[in-house]
Amino acid sequence: MKVTVFGTGYVGLVQGTILAEVGHDVLCIDVDESKVSKLKQGHVPIYEPGLDSLVKENYDAGRLDFSTDAALGVKHGQVQFIAVGTPPDEDGSADLKYVLAVAATIAEHMDDKKVIVDKSTVPVGTADKVYAKISEVLEQRGRSDIPHEVVSNPEFLKEGNAVADCMRPDRIIIGTQSKDAEEVMRELYAPFNRNHDKIIVMDVRSAELTKYAANCMLATKISFMNEIANLAELMGADIEMVRQGIGSDPRIGYQFIYPGVGYGGSCFPKDVQALIRTADSIDFEAKLLKAVEERNNAQKTTLFKKVEQHFNGALKGKTFALWGLSFKPNTDDMREAPSRVLMEALWQAGASVQAYDPEAMEETQRIYGNRNDLTLCGTKESALKGADALIIVTEWQSFRAPDFDLIKAQLRESIIFDGRNMFDPNRMTSKGFVYYSVGRKPAM
Ligand code: NAD
Repeated sequence: MKVTVFGTGYVGLVQGTILAEVGHDVLCIDVDESKVSKLKQGHVPIYEPGLDSLVKENYDAGRLDFSTDAALGVKHGQVQFIAVGTPPDEDGSADLKYVLAVAATIAEHMDDKKVIVDKSTVPVGTADKVYAKISEVLEQRGRSDIPHEVVSNPEFLKEGNAVADCMRPDRIIIGTQSKDAEEVMRELYAPFNRNHDKIIVMDVRSAELTKYAANCMLATKISFMNEIANLAELMGADIEMVRQGIGSDPRIGYQFIYPGVGYGGSCFPKDVQALIRTADSIDFEAKLLKAVEERNNAQKTTLFKKVEQHFNGALKGKTFALWGLSFKPNTDDMREAPSRVLMEALWQAGASVQAYDPEAMEETQRIYGNRNDLTLCGTKESALKGADALIIVTEWQSFRAPDFDLIKAQLRESIIFDGRNMFDPNRMTSKGFVYYSVGRKPAM
């Protein structure tokens, strides 16, 4: 099938690539000229495991192409995916200007029937707005005769595992009441639906809400665990024991109940906020979601508070080694990353940071530029040199078994603030570290 994808970000690029991988003829359109020219030269502008080679193979095979030419894009695909950003508006609600701009572009150039697919995460009612926008522009063109369907097909990929998630989705949600559009979507996704039927067809509004409900549920699990972790710390309990104790109940399960320094990224914070705003707009107070957000914002400050408390507030002139900048492992994404809240608080207090991340160094440089209180280090070891303590923010695998003797030798004092509970407190004590973690007593 011929498919066009508008937006070559984490979602559009991965989705376009895996559709090409199974044999569809895919054209990806982006307004960002430098992104498109990089992609055409075989350079993938984001870090996502396995994506580079897939993009290159499919581009070389002629199944995947990139362009800034929207008219060409509209002409190309029977199916038109909208996979552009939906960042928070000033009040936290989802800003639909990019989605509606693509809808208008499609309507300006379409000459035959198209199935338009909302892949972006959009509030309930957006498909109606997209349909109305397309109808309005077609009417202006005197082409109201051209048939079109708008389908909601939310994306559930996880950054860091996006290629695998899209190749083997847990479920494929298709929101439509049109049998024709459903058939087109079933044919499109048939290559991903062979093992068992993963397609769930529902009405458009339910599909739109499913995406928010999924992200809000996951964010709730994280905030819940962080709340219990804070309680555990104050009450002399060990959250890691509690985690295992509750995870063993199959109704709860072990997944997604790790305590830490709060969720970040481009989805959970904005989607929780957007659903709160949607609820507000229909005079419903989303009390639980507000608490989830509040707990998360507070949790992002807990590491800094521990550092501040340990040094009795005297952080001016201190230097901290920081491991992990991306909001989670296996991505270079720094959007809403807890590391940013921490670094900004440390700088505010007059401290400097020597940071290392396996993938997010370029992105950190892009965000913060050249500041004299931030040194970006080429290895995790070089970030330690002369620092007053080590702070771990992101649980990259390469941090799991570090050389503790080297850490001790390089740091001025043997102190580790661990925002991800990567190590056993008793072992850290026996190695001579002062060790702070989340939801467990400090180990001295
Ligand atoms: P992104 O910011 O990485 O990429 C968006 C892309 O769209 C950018 O390259 C931008 O230049 C392009 N764009 C903007 N306007 C355009 C236009 N008029 N025509 C063509 N391209 C245009 O965003 P993302 O992370 O890929 O997210 C896209 C959507 O998918 C969002 O709604 C997000 O909430 C949702 N989503 C994201 C994830 C994730 O993990 N990142 C997962 C599921 C769903």
